[in-house]
Amino acid sequence: MSDEAGEYLPDDVDAVRTALTEWYLDDHRSFPWRETTDPYAILVSEVMSQQTQLPRVVEAWTAFLERWPTVDDLAAADRADVVAFWSDHSLGYNNRATYLHESARQVTEELDGFPETPEELQQLHGVGPYTANAVASFAFNSGEAVVDTNVTRVLYRAFDVPDDDAAFEAVANNLMPDGESRVWNNAIMELGAVACGTRPRCDEAGCPWRERCDAYAVGDFTAPDVPTQPSFEGSRRQFRGRVVRLLGQHDEMELDTLGHRIRVDYTPDGEHGREWLRGILSDLADDGLVRIEERDDRTVARLR
Ligand code: SF4
Repeated sequence: MSDEAGEYLPDDVDAVRTALTEWYLDDHRSFPWRETTDPYAILVSEVMSQQTQLPRVVEAWTAFLERWPTVDDLAAADRADVVAFWSDHSLGYNNRATYLHESARQVTEELDGFPETPEELQQLHGVGPYTANAVASFAFNSGEAVVDTNVTRVLYRAFDVPDDDAAFEAVANNLMPDGESRVWNNAIMELGAVACGTRPRCDEAGCPWRERCDAYAVGDFTAPDVPTQPSFEGSRRQFRGRVVRLLGQHDEMELDTLGHRIRVDYTPDGEHGREWLRGILSDLADDGLVRIEERDDRTVARLR
């Protein structure tokens, strides 16, 4: 692991990796191109999604592959038909249709099959580093870690990585398990899209990194692309973060001790007292993060 990455990654990096992969495999948005390893189909999805919202891409992608099911079919198509399809489906700049058609021609006429590595894929017309890496990852499981806005937002918040391209790249690559770019890149991009978006949904989306996330612990959800604190349900989230962070530092904590540690105005019978704290603990227990035990007349909480 590089020194730069090691500085930011948690000690239990394997557990962090497993937690994210399991979270992703357990449930994720279903897109048809996630069900295939055909590089042609994946390239079409990547080019289409550069300028178009994913739900709309599904319809266009399906129609495109019905019309030109293989790279050979696309190579043999009339360029004007491909461009017309592109504008009929409002897929953005028509030159992307031209590039795609030209790439299909390269694969069938010039290259020895579909290129498999990020470097080789960049030989294709109009295919830049990002698209090449995505196709290498999702079709051939041979990519590097994706570092896009979603990923940098996650790394910045979860591990306090500074807003610096080299640091993001080092951490992203060291975090990705060797040889698992397909599932890993899907998983971390999914996390950035559905849980760690500009308005984070840490609890609602069951983010698997809540126990380790710096932003969750301190309640500061700014990020390079989120310069001011995003609005959401308010401070309750912040206190949930503090509870999880504190319980991570102690084997267990008694209700009032915990309350006094997480807010200065905690008064057992007051507005922000036991009842309020029990509500927070009970939400965390429902999310599988915390265990609450009643012992004689004491309530004790610990991480699961
Ligand atoms: S806990 Fe929230 S802020 Fe932290 S990584 Fe998860 S979704 Fe992002």
